[in-house]
Amino acid sequence: MNTRLALIMRTPISSIVRKQLRTLFGAFICATILTGYASSATAKNDADATKVYQMVYSATLDPMTGQAHASVALKQHRQLVRSIEFVMPKDRYLNIRPISRIEINGDRVIWKPLKKGDTLHFDFVIDHQRSNQKMDARITTTWALLKLDHLFPSATSRVVKGATSKTTLTLNAPTQWSIETPYGGGAGRIFEVDNTHRNFDAPRGWIIAGELGVRRENKDGRHITVAAPLGSGLQANDVLAFLRWTMPSLVELFPNTPQRLLIVSGSQDMWRGGLSGVGSLYLHSDRPLISGNRTSPLLHELFHVVSGLHSKVGADWIIEGLAEYYSLTLLLRSDGISKVRYNQSFEWLAQWSADTPCIATDRSTGKQTARSALIMRALDAEIRSETGGKASLDTLVHKLVQANEDLTNSSFRAAVMDITGAPMRAIASCP
Ligand SMILES: [Zn+2]
Repeated sequence: MNTRLALIMRTPISSIVRKQLRTLFGAFICATILTGYASSATAKNDADATKVYQMVYSATLDPMTGQAHASVALKQHRQLVRSIEFVMPKDRYLNIRPISRIEINGDRVIWKPLKKGDTLHFDFVIDHQRSNQKMDARITTTWALLKLDHLFPSATSRVVKGATSKTTLTLNAPTQWSIETPYGGGAGRIFEVDNTHRNFDAPRGWIIAGELGVRRENKDGRHITVAAPLGSGLQANDVLAFLRWTMPSLVELFPNTPQRLLIVSGSQDMWRGGLSGVGSLYLHSDRPLISGNRTSPLLHELFHVVSGLHSKVGADWIIEGLAEYYSLTLLLRSDGISKVRYNQSFEWLAQWSADTPCIATDRSTGKQTARSALIMRALDAEIRSETGGKASLDTLVHKLVQANEDLTNSSFRAAVMDITGAPMRAIASCP
């Protein structure tokens, strides 16, 4: 399962540039746009210092009220930010109070900060149930688990052309609690936030806090943290061993794999699946590292986290098919399963999804995803055949990641055509 984060920039309009940061919550959650991070840092370093404003995100986790008491502070030496529009549903965001004025229109909150800066305070209700009544965010007397994407709402900002933000995050919790985020760990610490090459950064990804069991490892220059509430049942050492073993194949496919990865889990009664986020993912402790059909829920979510691919208008089958295909293929490449067992897995997926057509969908699950994984395998074979072995599905994935755009069915077809020069038979029956 996945969650997707999409960051969208619009072109300048006269002296004002409108910057939009949009979070899409489809069936699941997430993926991150991490490519271009180095170039973004360079671009920001080169930014005109007079056009840099500071965004300071802060929150204190409060188990007594079940809320996070949060603030978003803007610091600017002149009016660089004209307005910021947040999406803040009333059932989750309470007591919204700026120093200056705001306009509230349904779930939309338009904040017009003061000339030299301003602070918006609000309270965020942490507990949240998904449509199947299972929780994907929770706070108890001893721990909390939630996404920064939700704690700090998605926003659209109007800023002076060329202005860029410098963003920091600080989290606090009861004194005996520890805190882990995709940016590092520690209560009261100031984390620098630079998720993407976009100018308007906001904190994203999973955070976990409380009395935690935390295990850390380094592999191929990547710092991996596995954290869960004490007694949650998550086999953190198994997760780390699995990642040490599969990480080289993942990094080979995605050289821009982030330097930090956070894997979190919660209580048994929470969402019984995986949910990806920026630099992080949630995995229920009951989910196996490798399923009975040999696909890997952990590698599936990692594909979402590291690829940053996201889709729109019915193209979710592509993203889910790729994640499922690579959850098997990365296992093969890291010698986790033999080619014979790898082939058997696809045979099983073919039998299971035999009566399932390839259709446009914004929410691909189960048999639809199995069918899509088979299509990706056929597509890999065709690309190799059409290009005389010079390209493969990896080439296509690199191309899609580099494009850094919401994937559509037509853009996917166009990317395939770009590589092979011909319409592909494997997706002939697909949208
Ligand atoms: Zn998925």
